[in-house]
Order: sequence, then C-alpha cells, then structure tokens
Amino acid sequence: MAEPDPSDPLETQAGKVQEAQDTDLDAEEGASGGEAEMDFLRSLFSQTLGLGSQKERLLDELTLEGVVRYMQSERCQRVICLVGAGISTSAGIPDFRSPTTGLYANLEKYHLPYPEAIFEIGYFKKHPEPFFALAKELYPGQFKPTICHYFIRLLKEKGLLLRCYTQNIDTLERVAGLEPEDLVEAHGTFYTSHCTSQLCRHEYTLGWMKEKLFSEVTPKCEKCQSVVKPDIIFFGENLPSRFFSCLQSDFRKVDLLIIMGTSLQVQPFASLIGKAPLSTPRLLINKEKTGQTDPFLGMMMGLGGGMDFDSKKAYRDVAWLGDCDQGCLALTDLLGWKKELEDLVRKEHAHIDAQSGSSTPNPTTAASPRTSPPPGKAEAKTTDGEKPQ
Ligand SMILES: [Zn+2]
Repeated sequence: MAEPDPSDPLETQAGKVQEAQDTDLDAEEGASGGEAEMDFLRSLFSQTLGLGSQKERLLDELTLEGVVRYMQSERCQRVICLVGAGISTSAGIPDFRSPTTGLYANLEKYHLPYPEAIFEIGYFKKHPEPFFALAKELYPGQFKPTICHYFIRLLKEKGLLLRCYTQNIDTLERVAGLEPEDLVEAHGTFYTSHCTSQLCRHEYTLGWMKEKLFSEVTPKCEKCQSVVKPDIIFFGENLPSRFFSCLQSDFRKVDLLIIMGTSLQVQPFASLIGKAPLSTPRLLINKEKTGQTDPFLGMMMGLGGGMDFDSKKAYRDVAWLGDCDQGCLALTDLLGWKKELEDLVRKEHAHIDAQSGSSTPNPTTAASPRTSPPPGKAEAKTTDGEKPQ
C-alpha cells in the first residue's frame, strides 16, 4: 500500500476538503436552530461510535505547557501511550518498515520477490530463512531501552499509566520495567515463540530463540520439527485478541493520549487515536505532524478522529516536533520529573551493563545520540534515517 506523501497533490486536496468542511460547520452553527441539530448529530454519531459525546476543551493552551498543566490537574488520572518505531531508533534499532534503513538492501542475497515478503506469513511458511536472518539482525536484548521507554515507566510509577499500546516488537517496554498488564503489544512480541504447526503450538522462550538465531540454524520444533516463529504479527495474520479486548475498556476512560514515535500509517493501530472521548487531549511527540484526517482514511480514523493541531477549530491536539527522547525530557522538565527520569535511565542502564558484562556506553546516554552504532550494526545504521535525502 502506498503511504501518503506530504508532497502529493492529494494531501493538498485533503487540506482543502478539510477547510471546506470547517466553513460549512461554521455557517451551520451560525444559523439559528443549526446548533441544536449539530449537537443532536454529534451525540448520535458519538454514541454509535462509542465516542465521548462532549467536546469539552480541557487544555488552557495548545502547547506542551498546556498539556503539563492538565497533567498536574485532578482531571488527568489515566494516560494511554501509543508508541511506534521512533521510540526505539535511539537504542540503535532501525525502523524496519522504513525504506531508508538499509535492512531490506542487506537481504538482497535471499532473492525476495519483493522486500515486504519477508514479513508475510504465506512467504515465511515456505521460506523462513530470510526472516531469521533479519531477526538475528534485529534481535532484542542487544539494546537498551531509551529515555522515552523510561518515561513511560515513570508514568506508571506516578500512577498515571493506564496502558501502553506499542507497535514495536523489540520488547524494550518490558526491559524498561513495564509489566505485561501495562502493555498491549499490538504487533506481537519476540518475547515468546510458538511452533507453527496448528496441532502442536509448543511455546519456546526468548533464550531458546536467541540460541537458534545466533547459531544460524532455522528454529525447528523439538516435538514435531515444524518451524518455530516468534510471536510477532506478520502481514496476513490477525492482531492479538488482547488488542481488541483492551481497547474496548481503555479508550472509554482515557484522560490523555500521548502518541510517540509513530507515523500512524499502519491500521488498525492508527485508528486508536480516534477511539478516545472527544474531549481527551492528545499530545504527539514525533519528528513530524501525523494523524491528520485524510479523505481516504477518514472513516477508519473514526468520525472526527483525525488530529487537528492548527485549524481554527483545534482544541485538544498538541504536536511537539523532534526526537522522542528530547520530547520526553522537555515534558518531564516542565513536570518537574526530569532529574528523576535521568536518574532512572542511569540506574537501569548501569544494571543492564552489569548483567551483560558490557561497559559499552549506550547511544541514548551519550551527548549526541545515534552517532555510535552498537557493535555489528554499522551497516544497518549508516542509512538509518540519517541518509541525506
Ligand atoms: Zn511443534
């Protein structure tokens, strides 16, 4: 599926469509009697779609400071984080979906029919080798959680974290100290693996999988000799049932969404931003603005679910543009938690170093992150998002 391109004329058109709709709404609201009709329609749609019906403005200003004042108020008790690959890049884990990571290029020797085949369940069942070569490359545990991961942990410690929905499969949320109940691993996890035989389905641990990956033999079930696959979701597989069961209850009561390091391009994860009540403020910490309504994805985002940072009608969405770790530091600085976060990162990283017997400084704690790739990752890192365009 082609991803929307900011320079695409369709995007410009989307902007125009949005403007036209806003103008219509203004006209209707201005007319006598229109207001009541609009309220009726809003509440009808809201009820139908399970959205909060009140569109109350809870932020005194649409800035990071405004979000912080809201977070410090009684009103904000339950925070949901929605995260993607951008929160793990500073740990040296490349965004494998990005064509600039160079990972796909490294797999040329496997003669894939097209690069994405490596993550397709149908292809995997016939040719598992390319996936395992990449899995070795992406093996979780070689890297440390980032400042951003520990920020989510800090939210938990402050009693504010309702749930963290992650698209990442690198298990860094778990390494950072989040419990399975704090998490919805929407695209699965490397943490466990299962035999692909429907009759067997024997479970294997991360340690078992690691040993197979690094000995470069295709992991085979010890019971039935079928291929064993990490529990990550391939193209062509359903999302975990936990994703659907948790979102039913979580999004009804969420007070704040913090969306970090995701371009919100992958459905159905992207549609989560539209599941929160209409009053719930949404903070985006990302390299670029994303999630704005698109004429094609509009319905999937949920009615009125797209982000609106800049229009005259913007009332709850705030974008902080830049690196996720820097965004979390800026946010915690305003919250008065910055030192606590830095201490937590230092303590946890020292603990991981002691366990692995390594004293390699982590890129996330270095003065200029992302300049020192972890050992053995140089090839993947050279083109990781920093390639001159
Ligand atoms: Zn088996």
